Amino acid sequence: MAYDNIVVPNDGEKVTVVGDELKVPDNPILAFIEGDGIGYDIMTASKRIWDAAVQATYGGQRKISWMEIYAGEKASTIYDGNYMPEETFDAMREFIVGIKGPLTTPVGGGFRSLNVTLRQVLDLYACVRPVRWYEGVPSPMKNPQDVNMVIFRENTEDVYAGIEWEAGTPENEKLAKFLREEMGATFFEGAGLGIKPISAFGTKRLVAKAIQYAIDEGHDSVTLVHKGNIQKFTEGAFRKWGYEVAKERFGDYTITEQELWDDYDGHQPEGKIVIKDRIADIMFQLSQLRPAEFSVLAAPNLNGDYLSDALAAEVGGMGIAPGANIADHIGLFEATHGTAPKYTNLDKVNPGSLLFSGVMMLEYIGWREAADKIHTAYQKTLAQNIVTYDFARQMDDAKEVKTSEFASAVIANL
Ligand code: NAP
Repeated sequence: MAYDNIVVPNDGEKVTVVGDELKVPDNPILAFIEGDGIGYDIMTASKRIWDAAVQATYGGQRKISWMEIYAGEKASTIYDGNYMPEETFDAMREFIVGIKGPLTTPVGGGFRSLNVTLRQVLDLYACVRPVRWYEGVPSPMKNPQDVNMVIFRENTEDVYAGIEWEAGTPENEKLAKFLREEMGATFFEGAGLGIKPISAFGTKRLVAKAIQYAIDEGHDSVTLVHKGNIQKFTEGAFRKWGYEVAKERFGDYTITEQELWDDYDGHQPEGKIVIKDRIADIMFQLSQLRPAEFSVLAAPNLNGDYLSDALAAEVGGMGIAPGANIADHIGLFEATHGTAPKYTNLDKVNPGSLLFSGVMMLEYIGWREAADKIHTAYQKTLAQNIVTYDFARQMDDAKEVKTSEFASAVIANL
């Protein structure tokens, strides 16, 4: 495909999908969106680390060919004021795997949020957020080493679908009249009204991805997190459809928590994943009081959003929490924090969130040895007390360094 402003590197090859699997060449073309604000600093630092880890692991036999694609402020200067050019979507569809820095949402622009737009247009229905603690990272938990969970948040439905009408508008009044007169609903005059769609299709594809991940990565449970005691036909249905897809598609690999006690006396049989569910509010407590009991979590959009940030706080906060938005095959990995505009070009912030999103990307393309090398080098760097300002202010004997110096320290430890 020909592009106006995207330069496709000629020393790389495309990642393709064969059957249901990604086929990754030794020199894959991976896309990146630099991001606004601190995007330049963290993307530059992280790319140095990813490239060095690939070189150190495969000695030149494998190499990433980076292809820059555009969104946000950089796009607007290149595409004449367009913050979200169409060819960015085309490039993600063609090249399948990419990573992005944070994006400013232009106030009063055509889009509600560039991130939401990317997710919706590319139908990136699973937002995946691993939450694990690295020794040396300041944490509010007594035993942060017990926190090791991966959240699969549904990305396309729920109250995020944007189906809502402002109080006082004719549309709102029409809907209010219908709900009162034809559906027998009662609510206060002048209420804003929103719709929360949750479907079997949206739920099952999300929960199936979470279970497949648990199987592939050797996790022992998948917990459906929902508010089904109150919202029976949306959150409650999420729970019901989640159990259904576990039986229908993964019956050989899964048992329910009920079956664990009824049939196995509480002893988890080898090779089986336990599917359980928890109501969202108690899940927030349990994630702090008994985190070791949970590994993979699957949640509808809004609860998954809250849960992702709350759990990230347990292991060091947004400066280090990585994430990915994944469709059936397309994977767009991303820093989970924003553009932190006051730190733009100061070479100051923590590159951890983007760095570990890239580590997830290396795992996604099957380059696990390089990903593991970064985990180990990062831990060594922390053990040397070398950190950026955000961790330094929570530690007694930190050696505070710039973003670029932190990257150099990790590379030296590879
Ligand atoms: P933010 O950019 O995440 O920054 C909030 C604070 O979090 C920063 O001031 C800083 O705290 C800390 N922080 C963020 N990234 C950090 C890093 N890499 N290292 C260390 N500390 C970090 O949130 P915001 O100020 O609410 O949003 C700014 C812009 O980002 C908005 O335009 C928003 O729309 C956008 N945004 C984009 C995304 C995305 O692209 N995925 C996500 C969220 C927000 P201290 O001040 O305490 O040092």
